[in-house]
Amino acid sequence: MVKFIASFTIVVLTLAAVRAQTPIVISDYPPINAIPDTKSAQVQAWLKEIGDLSGAPNIPLPNPTGQPPPCAKTPLPNECHWTCDGCSADDITACAAPNTWGLTFDDGPSTATPTLLNYLKTQKLSATFFLIGSNVIQYPDTVKREIAEGHHLASHTWSHHALTTLTNEQIVAEMKWTEKAVLAATGLKLKYMRPPYGDINNRVRYVLKKMGYIPVDWTGDEFDTNDWQIPTMSEATVIATFGKSLDAYAATNKTKGFYCLEHDLSTLTVGAAQKLIPLGQAHKINIANVAVCESDAQPYQLGGTAAMPTVPGVASPTNGTISSSSTGAAGAGPSVAGKTSSATAAPKVAGLLTAAAAVFVGAVLA
Ligand SMILES: [Zn+2]
Repeated sequence: MVKFIASFTIVVLTLAAVRAQTPIVISDYPPINAIPDTKSAQVQAWLKEIGDLSGAPNIPLPNPTGQPPPCAKTPLPNECHWTCDGCSADDITACAAPNTWGLTFDDGPSTATPTLLNYLKTQKLSATFFLIGSNVIQYPDTVKREIAEGHHLASHTWSHHALTTLTNEQIVAEMKWTEKAVLAATGLKLKYMRPPYGDINNRVRYVLKKMGYIPVDWTGDEFDTNDWQIPTMSEATVIATFGKSLDAYAATNKTKGFYCLEHDLSTLTVGAAQKLIPLGQAHKINIANVAVCESDAQPYQLGGTAAMPTVPGVASPTNGTISSSSTGAAGAGPSVAGKTSSATAAPKVAGLLTAAAAVFVGAVLA
């Protein structure tokens, strides 16, 4: 029955998403991998919509623009610059579910992403993909596939420049163009984001919050897999180093999970992922996407309410537990399809099914 509900819901959601998609015309978007022009009519319209940004903390912009900045010798009291002083304010820095690896991949989609998706499907795993907008418009079908196969999408900006070096208006442009591209591809408005290089301070947080975004960092240096350093750093070293991090985590009380830094950037990083993930499985650590980690049944600002991956397992978002067993439908990420004994679980599942059925009926009739 659970399998039926998952399969049925995925079909329904796929139909719903198809209806919401619009074709992506690359020339309608800013140049790829460049900081978008803030004077464009589109960005000006977004700035007007967002409103006054003058309340942002007055933190000077370092030079040069776009590169991860050097750390100030003495951080400003209101700066809270995560990569420099470890200050995370209210960023999410750890998967809220115990004994759980929050599986995330940054910098995609790329030509290597389909290989990763094939692997995740064989493992029945669901990940969060922190997408670069410039890549989304080049590979929209891969983004659509991510949704169709039960993954969760989030933002990693338009051009992957260090946000603390950009103006408030440039931050808006970076986020909103990415948001527009993903919305066009999937019908979903993103809610979570990861700052490139982990470069975030209180000014950046203020601007992100104005747009409804929740930053997700990773859980400290030991959970940076360093996959991006391959082949300068050997793959064997990356695997061995991360294995030690997992050993150390497994020896704790594991009341909170963790988020890792991984990338679907190249065949090298995707190859490493296929060796890193089995290490987590060998440690009997559950693996989940951000939406499941945070028990967020509405992991988008618009759309996708019932599109939360692994629908059966999130029957009770506030009470559900996460199972390491595989019980769901193909592509639905059932490794995080937990079962809950909560009495409130069944009605939630029924509610999702009802909502999905309504969408299904609408799709057929429209
Ligand atoms: Zn990145």
